Amino acid sequence: MQLSFDLIVKGGKVVTPGKVVEGSVLVKDGKVSAVVEKDMMPHEVDAAEVIDASGKYVLPGMIDPHVHIGEPGQEEREDIPHATRAAAAGGVTTTVVMPNVIPCVNSAERLIEREKLFNEKSLVDYALYGGAGVELPENIVAQAEAGAVGYKSYIRAFNPDRKGLICRDAGDLYIMMKEVAKSGRTVAMHAEDDPLINVLIEELRAEGKVGFEDFIKSRPETTEVLAVVRLCEMAYYTGVRLSICHMSSPRAVEYVLEYQDMGADIVMETCPGYLMFSNEDTEKVGAYAQVVPPLREKEKSDQLWEMVEKGYIDYIGTDHAPGIPEEKEMGRKDIFTSGGGLPGLETALPWMLDELHNGRWDIQKVVELFSEKPARVFDMYPQKGCLASGSDADMVIVDLDAQMTFSQDDMYTKGKDASLMYDGITVKGVPQTTVVRGEVVMRDRQITGELGTGEWVTPE
Ligand SMILES: [Zn+2]
Repeated sequence: MQLSFDLIVKGGKVVTPGKVVEGSVLVKDGKVSAVVEKDMMPHEVDAAEVIDASGKYVLPGMIDPHVHIGEPGQEEREDIPHATRAAAAGGVTTTVVMPNVIPCVNSAERLIEREKLFNEKSLVDYALYGGAGVELPENIVAQAEAGAVGYKSYIRAFNPDRKGLICRDAGDLYIMMKEVAKSGRTVAMHAEDDPLINVLIEELRAEGKVGFEDFIKSRPETTEVLAVVRLCEMAYYTGVRLSICHMSSPRAVEYVLEYQDMGADIVMETCPGYLMFSNEDTEKVGAYAQVVPPLREKEKSDQLWEMVEKGYIDYIGTDHAPGIPEEKEMGRKDIFTSGGGLPGLETALPWMLDELHNGRWDIQKVVELFSEKPARVFDMYPQKGCLASGSDADMVIVDLDAQMTFSQDDMYTKGKDASLMYDGITVKGVPQTTVVRGEVVMRDRQITGELGTGEWVTPE
């Protein structure tokens, strides 16, 4: 009997849960039918399309759990076409998109409205965060019911543009976390103590200290540790599932480990920037290296690396948040007037592949950190995050021997002019071909897919 498929990715080293299989991935109707070892391949098969992956690794598509795309309301920073082409170029087949746009996502209605924009324009699949805060607690559970895979929340002062995304203190956290716990989803939180940062900024300003190094001084590790401890204690108390975003402080990681030992349901994210760079790299680019929390001392990024290697960090998110060059330029005169953010969608996986050659991790770990674990934390596994029968046929074919040099001119993100930080970095390990539910969206480094190919991913 002739078996027929839509797509066969043949002859690669396929990274499946638990092992690397030399063989083929058979795809039908957007799903993985089977991963078949080389000598087990039946003779009577055909497919509408066959991709030869000999000599290459075939990974499940990457899932970026921390992406800022400015639609609606902040398209000048990043829009869906640019961001999702960047995603495809970086082997990211699902973006998990943050709610802090204008108007921000703080209700089921806004979530649905925003979904329509992505449905029309996204090249890759997407999942949406809802917003959780103390101002609209009655909207929290409804967003999960409407399809949000998790929530984002901040501890800082109220801001009309972020209504429903903010908690000011532990009392607010209590109200927000109790509601999120009812939904069963994860709340991802920014962890920096704003009142302390504001005092430190005032102090620095009063002394006329407004250079880039002063930006780093305004957000010492203490500001992160304070916020992390408070969040952990409140997660422990309320039983909510908490993810702490962009961890940059090794001391803060130590505290989270203690709470995990006590049984609190807490996971940790870090971003490529905190491992790739330190404050030593930022001298030539100034505000272009401005992210929050800030890039810290080399010693800290070395310690963070050790913590990744020990398995303390659960997953990598890019915090893709392109800035605008004019805004970055303002930082030359006064760093506290400049805008933060660094793109990351198209650089993260190549950089992670490059680190394979430095023995930092193995290919399974790359998949765990940037695909499997984000899918699990945000309730998309095993539809996403693995190559197994029945999973979505999201794949990235990577060549570990090929090299590429990051260049602003070649980037797809709308924020490429604010991507100085990456310019000229050469990595060994290149995503060559990206497949979303059986559709090729990048072939041999060329974007081929149609905008609108992407579908909404809701919790499993
Ligand atoms: Zn972010």
